[in-house]
Amino acid sequence: MNYIEIKDLSKSYFDVKALKKINISISEGSLFGILGPNGAGKSTLIKILATLISPDEGHIYFDNIDLVKKPREIRELIGYVAQEISLDKILTGRELLDFQADLYHMDKFSKLERIESLIAELEMHDWVDRKCGTYSGGMKRRIDLAAGLLHIPKVLILDEPTVGLDIESRNIIWELLESLKKDGMTIILSSHYLDEIDKLADNVVIINDGKVIDQGNPSQLKNKLGGDRVSLKVREFSTLEESKKVKDILSKIDGISQVVVNSAQGYSLNFIAEQGKDLLTKLKVELAFSKFQIFSLSQSQPSLDDVYLQATGKTLQDAELFMTGKRDLKKESKQSMR
Ligand code: ADP
Ligand code: MG
Repeated sequence: MNYIEIKDLSKSYFDVKALKKINISISEGSLFGILGPNGAGKSTLIKILATLISPDEGHIYFDNIDLVKKPREIRELIGYVAQEISLDKILTGRELLDFQADLYHMDKFSKLERIESLIAELEMHDWVDRKCGTYSGGMKRRIDLAAGLLHIPKVLILDEPTVGLDIESRNIIWELLESLKKDGMTIILSSHYLDEIDKLADNVVIINDGKVIDQGNPSQLKNKLGGDRVSLKVREFSTLEESKKVKDILSKIDGISQVVVNSAQGYSLNFIAEQGKDLLTKLKVELAFSKFQIFSLSQSQPSLDDVYLQATGKTLQDAELFMTGKRDLKKESKQSMR
């Protein structure tokens, strides 16, 4: 049964279209992943679900309750953990949780019991009585998560909860999310980490530039690609023109499909090779016939990144680097055209 239905959801910030007619269904008691690079629209979607901003168009229902019309009812159902953490520096973690619990009007006994159990589950005893101002990112995030869970929400919504965290904190958060799911909580989690979504999510939606690229169970999405993923270069840095020629050659070989030119990786070629056929020999012959050589070739099981690559012509990691300005696509393509 679908517990949450999102229909034709759109949202713009002035001229930036952050979400463009998004449709998503989320079943009760599942962990639903929202995967996409920086700027894809993840936080916008999450903030709308947390009733913090309202959509321009579309409908959202939680258990048939209309989110736009009845945000108060939705707020009682949800716990929200934001992407940016802002904790009071003067209070200790325990005081902060105590204060939050009072906002939820919890009675004294259940409040103390709940706080103790969260301290144990998130392994916070050693430092929970220190001031929040002295905490590491991982500690802050754990307190933040505990605060979102005080009232035992039916739906927990988290925006990139493990970004930049130490491995210990990340593992503790992952374990807690898995145990909350076992207890029947519905969890919505955004991430740009493929391994996180692959490990935790029952279902995932991949979004890019405000649009849904694909959605489903992570293994189904990978299996849909139907074979091994191969990355090929005919030279260390090819030109776009050259790679297009190679693409034409590859596309004609039986058993090779979904050939894309990876603009971010020196115009390497990525494709799916059907298993059980000796395609490598055939490939060498066909390339040699057109005077191309193999500079490098690697073969692996498909990952969620391949699902992203097939749809966008870039890997998620490269999309991140361009978004954050660490690489300049225009400059690089000019260089490799030379
Ligand atoms: P993500 O969380 O996936 O990184 P966001 O939802 O934060 O993506 O952003 C989606 C797009 O909307 C980006 O282009 C971003 O720059 C833009 N955006 C987000 N918040 C605002 C805002 N408050 N005002 C203007 N533009 C915004
Ligand atoms: Mg974000």
